[in-house]
Amino acid sequence: MLINQEEKINNNISPLMDPFGRAISYLRVSLTDRCDFRCVYCMSENMSFLPKSDVLSLEEIETICTSFINLGTKKIRLTGGEPLVRKNVLTLIKSLGSRIGSGLEELTITTNGSQLSRFSDQLYEYGVRRVNVSIDTLKPELFKKITRWGNLEKVLNGLKAATKAGLKCKINAVALKDVNEDELQNMIEWAHNEGHDFTIIETMPMGEISEDRTDQYLPLSLVRANLRKKFTLTESEYKTGGPARYVKIKETGGRLGFITPLTHNFCESCNRVRLTCTGMLYMCLGQDDSANLRKELQDGKKGIELEESIREAILRKPKGHDFEISRRASGPAVKRHMSVTGG
Ligand code: SAM
Ligand code: SF4
Repeated sequence: MLINQEEKINNNISPLMDPFGRAISYLRVSLTDRCDFRCVYCMSENMSFLPKSDVLSLEEIETICTSFINLGTKKIRLTGGEPLVRKNVLTLIKSLGSRIGSGLEELTITTNGSQLSRFSDQLYEYGVRRVNVSIDTLKPELFKKITRWGNLEKVLNGLKAATKAGLKCKINAVALKDVNEDELQNMIEWAHNEGHDFTIIETMPMGEISEDRTDQYLPLSLVRANLRKKFTLTESEYKTGGPARYVKIKETGGRLGFITPLTHNFCESCNRVRLTCTGMLYMCLGQDDSANLRKELQDGKKGIELEESIREAILRKPKGHDFEISRRASGPAVKRHMSVTGG
């Protein structure tokens, strides 16, 4: 489909629109499928990673991100795998950061925190102001058990370095039945006391992980009901442009987010698409349809031509996902791991 010039100018003023009238202004980019942890809900321990030749170069990622920014993308979140283990990642962060204020409004990162001691000062220098740090427990032994390869002390030191550098840190924790279920209240108190927002995520059925997901699944409706016994929760209108719904906690004065893809469908307000480290653009985290932007680059497309391919892909964005975790569901809803699409 060729877009005439007048239409293009109009479209450049308004953000990318999907067929359901949702403005797409948020791009999440997985920089690598590799990680220095092996979280039990995310990967199997002997995970095999993609050959490096399948992964987009940092220059290719930058080209695609630039096209998105030209098409009205306001927010880019770098994720993975672990984005900060990608070689020379700071080069990309520096060049994307230079677009903040000229098209891009915000560049953020979701990280396991293992590299924050090394990188926080430069992240701030290049324009990053907020990071999400994933921490599922504050018990060192349990942390080791959940992440298999992680070290809690290193992550907490990274968190301190990030805070010192001026980065606003939000803590993300996946709710795991019988694992960190009883600890969530303490973790919320700790996070709020340290000045961090806290978000609880429901496990999503993505990729084979060598464990039974029905054993891990803890509906957040249950978590919320338990927290209500300890805390006074009041609904909040606060929004970060992400899928979390927030409440304020009277006792701590802090904010608590819930990401509930299974018990509460968040699709109606979806404003994002996801680019994998192999250059596949997924219009929905929970559906398999994708556009191969790496192929477009290999075919020599850039600038307006690449932007047209992105527009066409957005026109295929589905209404919502079909996640379900139940005894009846025999395998994952989508075969790719969260680390490939980017959480
Ligand atoms: N490595 C980084 C990290 O852990 O923050 C970024 C990538 S990770 C895939 C992004 C987020 O997705 C993390 O908060 C992680 O806990 C979450 N996640 C991974 N697999 C998940 C799953 N199957 N269901 C729900 N959340 C998941
Ligand atoms: Fe790595 Fe993040 Fe997946 Fe854990 S959740 S294995 S830290 S990508």
